[in-house]
Amino acid sequence: MSTSNESSINASLWARVSAVGRESLTPNAQIINTPFVGSDLTVVPSSSAFGAVARIVRLNALEPVDVFRLLRIRTRRADDLSALMTFSHAAQAALASALRLQGVPPTWNLTAWFPFQASSELLKPGWTFRYCPQCLHSGYHTLLHQLPWFQRCPWHGTQLRRECLRCGKKQMVLADWAFDANLTCACGHAPLSTRAALRRASGPPSGAADFIAEYLVWAAAERARNVLIVPELPEDTESALAELVHLPRDWMLQRGVTEGRLHRRTWRARRSVQSADREAIRHLDVLRHDRPGFLTVPSAIRNAIAGVAANLALKLPPSTLTDREMTLFLAGAGIDAPKCFEPAKRAFSGTLSALPPWELAGKQFLNLACLHPVAYRAVVGLCDVAQVGRSLFDFHGQATDAELELLTRVCGHLLARGYAEGLRATLSRHIPVLYEFGRDAPHLTKPWILASRDHTRLVRVRAVWKPMAFSGSAEELLEAEDQANLRREGRPRKRNQRGKLRQ
Ligand SMILES: [Zn+2]
Ligand SMILES: [Zn+2]
Repeated sequence: MSTSNESSINASLWARVSAVGRESLTPNAQIINTPFVGSDLTVVPSSSAFGAVARIVRLNALEPVDVFRLLRIRTRRADDLSALMTFSHAAQAALASALRLQGVPPTWNLTAWFPFQASSELLKPGWTFRYCPQCLHSGYHTLLHQLPWFQRCPWHGTQLRRECLRCGKKQMVLADWAFDANLTCACGHAPLSTRAALRRASGPPSGAADFIAEYLVWAAAERARNVLIVPELPEDTESALAELVHLPRDWMLQRGVTEGRLHRRTWRARRSVQSADREAIRHLDVLRHDRPGFLTVPSAIRNAIAGVAANLALKLPPSTLTDREMTLFLAGAGIDAPKCFEPAKRAFSGTLSALPPWELAGKQFLNLACLHPVAYRAVVGLCDVAQVGRSLFDFHGQATDAELELLTRVCGHLLARGYAEGLRATLSRHIPVLYEFGRDAPHLTKPWILASRDHTRLVRVRAVWKPMAFSGSAEELLEAEDQANLRREGRPRKRNQRGKLRQ
């Protein structure tokens, strides 16, 4: 009886074993499937590629040379391993293959975390490793910790760091470490603990996976709506993005407080717009030229532009503008010089008189040479986002009044601000006292813009202006930009060409 039982058990066991296949019976099977301790990434939800490497290096006591020998990731000792694992497709593919993953996990790509359409290369210049000390202690790092619009770890509430907690030096992430001490600082502080990393329970808190899943869904929905317009030669990208991206209110406490020092503004489409100026966007098309010369100011923007010139003229100290110059600065606003105005005792300046908008035959013309190109190229970028690949003709035919009004309103603001800054900068050569004007002292900024579309309709625009870093004066920078525009046009430069109407 017992013999027949045994044989039937053996037979069923054999049947099960045959169904599984031979290779899973070999003593090496476990090693083939998970070649490294810590390669089960489900323990570390949406870990960054760098986080996965750091953890595997520590738990398997790998040396720098093993990164190529075992993981097939090409590195040099001077490489920032965090930047390499974030931006190198080859390195990510090698790691995925070494870990026997089905392709590169989408969350290793920065763009999966962006709530706007932009290239992942956006954060590459000046990339530094940023981490939550509590998460990294147990070997966990996620790209969420790198996002500039989070200042704190969402589940620990800890301030995210770039530096060593003990000595304050930049956190060590080079592909160069002493045995069993990757990430350990020269001061001896070890942000990653082997013991903590080995304990499964000491990974990120249980809510982390849920929060990340919720965040990624939100980011994907936002990405479908939002387009980021990055200025030329972007500087200090992270602080601009920290101000530009707004997280859902429920998450605000978790992200921490931003410094909020930048000037920013949000515009929304209005519900009832009677009729928009349909010519406005057509006029702005001139801004696409390398050196656009003069803009025929759309009627919706004329008051704003004229106001910039008049306001500045009225603020100037006595005896800076001549009578005729003052008249030109105030003409667009339709006002006369105040009784207390004291004209300068010098000859009329052709250069100064070219700076206010020209009122001619019922139209207004703005000399674009006194605007920094980032101001009007932002306008072009925004028009492109609104047009969504359509020709100007098709766009005009399909755009609603509300959309056109929003676009014109924002373009007007961008131009008026660029003009106000450019005007002060250009005038400062002739009127150095402008540098004592505090908030109004010459300075230049770059706009960063987040444009939101509902399907193809532009519905909201948000902008932040980052102060421009430059050596020399703002006026010299404008002059240099104008020369660069001229070179783009491939024309020889004539002296004193600025300010003269090009035919
Ligand atoms: Zn944390
Ligand atoms: Zn240190």
